[in-house]
Amino acid sequence: MADNCQLCEAERLTEWLFEDEEIWIAECIVCLTPMVVWKQHGLPEETLEQAFLERFKLIASQRYPDGWWLDTKRRRIPEHWHAHARPAGAFFDPRSDLDGEWDEAVDEEADPV
Ligand SMILES: [Zn+2]
Ligand SMILES: [Zn+2]
Repeated sequence: MADNCQLCEAERLTEWLFEDEEIWIAECIVCLTPMVVWKQHGLPEETLEQAFLERFKLIASQRYPDGWWLDTKRRRIPEHWHAHARPAGAFFDPRSDLDGEWDEAVDEEADPV
């Protein structure tokens, strides 16, 4: 648990899609796409990370049956492991106000979680 870490606080600002002993999956409040978060503050070993992503893929495929891509870049909270599933060809979910806004500049400035 780290101070002032949004992911540690894990406020249920959006509905959680999945939870187990190690991870939780919810919609990112910025992107509105599914986001998987480790319950521990830090970065898991690669084998553990792969196990998390296997669970995440099931949820992501249900959400975006027409295709999606895995975004493991941690932009705003680099020290706490999390990853996004984003719809094919897009960055934000179509329901987000930011949908269609994405280009390289926005990627830097929009400051997604
Ligand atoms: Zn944290
Ligand atoms: Zn996000």
